[in-house]
Formats: sequence, C-alpha cells, structure tokens
Amino acid sequence: MPTNSSIVDNLREIHARIESACVNSKREVSEVQLLLATKTVKPENIKVALSNNERLIGENKVQEVKEKYEALLSVPHEKHFIGHLQSNKIKEVLRYGVTCIQSLDRLSLAEKLQKRLTFENKHMNVFIQVNTSAEKSKFGVSPDNAISLIKQIAHFDRIHIKGLMTIGLFSADKEKVRECFQLLKQLQQAIISENISNVSMKELSMGMSGDLEIAIEEGATIIRVGTAVFGERAYPDSYYWNENTNNIVQ
Ligand SMILES: *Cc1c(COP(=O)(O)O)cnc(C)c1O
Repeated sequence: MPTNSSIVDNLREIHARIESACVNSKREVSEVQLLLATKTVKPENIKVALSNNERLIGENKVQEVKEKYEALLSVPHEKHFIGHLQSNKIKEVLRYGVTCIQSLDRLSLAEKLQKRLTFENKHMNVFIQVNTSAEKSKFGVSPDNAISLIKQIAHFDRIHIKGLMTIGLFSADKEKVRECFQLLKQLQQAIISENISNVSMKELSMGMSGDLEIAIEEGATIIRVGTAVFGERAYPDSYYWNENTNNIVQ
C-alpha cells in the first residue's frame, strides 16, 4: 500500500522520465498526456494523485469503474476505459462517466455501442485497440484487419475514433518492444492517408511503467502508467487482460 508522499514522489519521477524522453526525441512535454492506470487502486489513493495535478485515469474493469464512481465525484478528473469490454457492460460504461473507450477492438461491440448510444442520445470517443505483439493472450484487432475495421466503425455516427491503443510486448528486449510501437505508428500513418471521414488519428496510447520512454520516442501521445505510481498490484496483469475472469471486490 503506497503512502500519500510516495505517490507524490512517484508522480514527480514519472514526469521527470516523460520530460527527459521528450527532450531525447525532440518533442514537447505538452504532446504527451499521462493516464494513471488505476486498476486495484483505492479511491483514496487515486484522489492523492488527482489532487496533485493529475487529471486522467483509466480503468480496466466495469466493476471498478462502478465501485469508485461515488468516491471520485468530488475531484475533477477524466476517465477512460482501457480494459477488455464485454458488450453486456456497455450500459454501465455509459452510466459511470467514461469519456473514451480505448479498447474498442471488434465490430460486434461497436454495433452494440452505437445502438445504445443512439438510444441514450449520447456520443462516445474511442481508440481502436491493436494487437501489435501478436500474442494470443492479448486483445485487439490484428494490424492487418485494423483499417477495414476502422472503415466500418467510421459509419457509426455516435462513435468517434480518435486514435489507436496498444499494449506492447512484455519483453526485456527493448528493440522488440519498440517494434510494437513502431507498428502502431505506421498504422496510424496508413490510416491518416486513407482520409476516412469521422476518423481522427491524433492519439496514440502506448507505453506503460516499464517502456514509456520507448513509446514516447516512437510517438505516444498518451502513456498509461500504474505500477510506477501506485506500486505493485496483488493480481497479475493476465487477470485483467484475459476473458472470463471474475471481478475483484476490494
Ligand atoms: C495496468 C495497465 C497499464 C499500466 O501498467 P503498469 O505496468 O502498471 O504501468 C497500462 N495499460 C493497460 C491496458 C493496463 O491494463
């Protein structure tokens, strides 16, 4: 369990890492947003970060979005959904203040989302999640199918594609990790050149605690950081990235 001051110290360290990666790649710090990956993190600890000039959080499980909703109402923030989304949870994602679904990865989910958004007279920003590491355990559309999926989703007038998201390969081999991020960047460029209406490719959400420097060097506009701010989690990440896992109630 992190202390308040360790969260503040960790945030300072993350911003220093972001800054030096930006300097190295000749980018402006303002081009890179920090998203706090808050899975398993209690509202009191999330509030420490939000009170320390952070604004953007990301949750992986609808259950956690719901559980923390009330407690976080008093602090201004923006919330993205970054986990695997089952279509029967769409209603709740819309109810609990999520402003962007970063993990849209299939047409069937987009169809149901469009339907529900129309019914509620709402709109939703999304990123398309791409599986750049070809690991079977990870969600995301394959790079080969991404453009055709995006063209189909672009027809849905309630859904606004704002960019791409990926989880890089888990590997100590930095060049292999870099290849995942380069692939996402190349895909972004290919999609831009298709000029698809209702599709913006401004955002590239990639890079986590261990690989954020590489992601920034390769063009990330949003990095998603959990462990380096809030400490180690009690559950392995596979718990969050695999289907059919039960929700945790803290
Ligand atoms: C947990 C998680 C992160 C953050 O990972 P850390 O290694 O804890 O920084 C980023 N993206 C997704 C989708 C996650 O589930």
